[in-house]
Amino acid sequence: MTTALITHADCLNHVTPDGHPERVARLEHILHALEPLDLRRVTAPMAAEDDILRIHPAPYLSDLRRASPAEGWAQIDGDTFLSPGSLDAAFRAAGAVVRGVGMVLGGEVQNAFAAVRPPGHHAETDTAMGFCLFGNAALAAKHALDHHGLKRVAVVDFDVHHGNGTQDLLWDEPRALVITSQQMPLWPGSGRPDEDGAHGQILNLPLAPGSGRAEMQAAYEGQAFPRLRAFKPELLIISAGFDAHQDDPLASLNWATADFAWLTEQLCKLASELCQGRIVSTLEGGYDLNALAAATRAHVEELIKAPA
Ligand SMILES: [Zn+2]
Repeated sequence: MTTALITHADCLNHVTPDGHPERVARLEHILHALEPLDLRRVTAPMAAEDDILRIHPAPYLSDLRRASPAEGWAQIDGDTFLSPGSLDAAFRAAGAVVRGVGMVLGGEVQNAFAAVRPPGHHAETDTAMGFCLFGNAALAAKHALDHHGLKRVAVVDFDVHHGNGTQDLLWDEPRALVITSQQMPLWPGSGRPDEDGAHGQILNLPLAPGSGRAEMQAAYEGQAFPRLRAFKPELLIISAGFDAHQDDPLASLNWATADFAWLTEQLCKLASELCQGRIVSTLEGGYDLNALAAATRAHVEELIKAPA
């Protein structure tokens, strides 16, 4: 079986102001690092408007369209910007995860990685924030549940920042287990263990600044993996942010590239045990270009090696 790499050149047309960490070069570095790998290369379609409306209300979408600039930038919040190409990029990012879910559930590929931007896990129901416009991981989960008729989907978010958007979008969704690890304290400030969802189906795993491999493994082996085994998801969605890397400028966890490989390998084994190895992973953060490229490559290499 194969791994799909789903992306689109439109994702390079989401341009942020000079000095912004979430920049075009991130995706360029990743695609370059993945070039030698044996992957099924797939062009991301635009998400259908109905897909977006599964998680965001129509007025939110029309507000974004109204704000979309003909040139320069529109600033949505302190660090979230729209350039003329941003909405198309966001529709491709959402379309990539929808396509990934379809390919994986249809048995066309073992698993899929969506190399896309803007990222998604900070976008709340009607609020764009933290570089994110559409909640791609939550959208993938909802699409799998509502369109493909799955009964249980799990989302694992190992980005260093709390997946507040995914948590908000799936807060009242008993069919979705959401597990998110994050440095705490750190922006956006949410992600305490007592934030556990309307059905107790959200698991927040805060990690102390400066912590590394041992603390990460303890949190995942002690809490995340048992919850996944108990929940028995039919599909695993990964919010793959690489900003817990020790070289990342936006946070202060001490994960090495090998730690992303270890975590991905464990998630692949669990997916093999629980859901025929079905995984759709989507890019979130990661802001040191070299660390991002290396950690993403390590992640995708594990997806390629993953057992069915
Ligand atoms: Zn992040």
